[in-house]
Amino acid sequence: MKLLIIGTGYVGTTTALVFAEMGWKVTGLDRDHKKIEQLSQGSLYFFEQGLELQLVKQLKEGNLSFTSDTKMAIRQTDVLFICVGTPSRSNGSADLKYIKQVAEDIGRYMNSYKLIVIKSTVPVGTNEKMKKWIQSSQKTPQPFDVVSNPEFLREGNALHDTLYPDRVVIGASNEKAIKIMKEIYRTMQCPVIITAPRTAEMIKYAANAFLATKISYINEMARLCDKLDINVLDVSRGIGLDTRIGQSFLQAGSGYGGSCFPKDIAALLHTAKELDIKLSILEKVTAVNESQQRYILDQIRPILKGFHNKTISLLGLSFKPGTDDIRDAPSLRFIQSLLSENACIKVHDPVAKLPLNSYPKGLQQCDTPEQSIIQADAVIICTNWPLYRELDWTQLKGSMKRPFIYDGRNMLDAEEMKALGYHYQGIGYH
Ligand code: NAD
Repeated sequence: MKLLIIGTGYVGTTTALVFAEMGWKVTGLDRDHKKIEQLSQGSLYFFEQGLELQLVKQLKEGNLSFTSDTKMAIRQTDVLFICVGTPSRSNGSADLKYIKQVAEDIGRYMNSYKLIVIKSTVPVGTNEKMKKWIQSSQKTPQPFDVVSNPEFLREGNALHDTLYPDRVVIGASNEKAIKIMKEIYRTMQCPVIITAPRTAEMIKYAANAFLATKISYINEMARLCDKLDINVLDVSRGIGLDTRIGQSFLQAGSGYGGSCFPKDIAALLHTAKELDIKLSILEKVTAVNESQQRYILDQIRPILKGFHNKTISLLGLSFKPGTDDIRDAPSLRFIQSLLSENACIKVHDPVAKLPLNSYPKGLQQCDTPEQSIIQADAVIICTNWPLYRELDWTQLKGSMKRPFIYDGRNMLDAEEMKALGYHYQGIGYH
């Protein structure tokens, strides 16, 4: 059985590597020739720890190849995993244009039975749509099945999460498809949930929505902790040790971002609205998240007596450590707001970069955190890259205009920073 991964982005590349590691013959297909060229040469075009080593290994062992020849790739493989993007439309719904393009390519080029597996995050009902799109693109009828197999990996831990998932969800409606999927995943040591395609699609959205809810919940608690002078870190630990609650996703901070939570929650809200159902909890989760950066700036503004002509060192661009992904990152909202208040921003991130043509006036990208901090009126820590913990904060204090740190990830030790003479503030943590 030969596997084809369509869309070699964060999910597709990781999926391809893990299937190759499991011993399958895998081809990665992408419309972007540059990405294919780079991947074929063993070079990863995005940042994800451990992936490039795997890439080199799998290419060398001959289990993995890459192509942008759609027709040949579809004809020569048996199981086609769709990993293309499903971005947000302006009304919040998931834009399925890439999924539809792939369906049309498959319908046009398939020449024998294919099992088509949707890994991309897609709204409930997409599995059915996919079948129709494929059928209507076929010149001569060919048999196929469509399975929903959502992906749960986290950027920053992609390889580990894909090698050792908590569960595999297979949404399929016939025995042949289920048998093939079980065979593909047979070496995975985790529960396999076999369910209806619509349920599989729903599981993915419900999981992301729940995780985002935990984040907005603790962020709101942190605001209350600010007022009550309570340490939210202790609150997180105190409630998170309860196994019914769990500690993960209970760290107060600058808000969630990235290519999944904001768009997936928007898509779920859109689905609910179409069905005349009000998801009031998720509406609030979104509202809390969208106001989180504003809340933080409101804490800093009075201390600096406004942002006009102030130099702000923004540490971290990516939506979380371990990735260069800045899609929907909180840092972008900080930048936009600070620039609108005429601040000068010196931003640093160890791997993520703003595209060259998007540097507005007043924004400087620094190669080192030290360069970003020199002459700053305030440091805002936006992404908890471990390297920010290791900085020589004693020395840096002397280089700042005023020693003020707003720790938007509560990653530094408040007592230590205060002992060094900083005005240190975290979120719900002082
Ligand atoms: P991505 O944007 O990094 O990659 C998508 C790739 O698909 C791109 O390289 C693009 O060139 C390619 N593509 C688009 N149309 C194509 C076509 N017709 N033929 C071939 N290639 C095509 O996206 P991603 O972050 O990997 O996410 C993919 C899907 O997985 C999304 O639905 C996302 O919601 C979901 N997901 C993402 C993550 C994550 O952490 N990134 C985790 C779980 C699920």
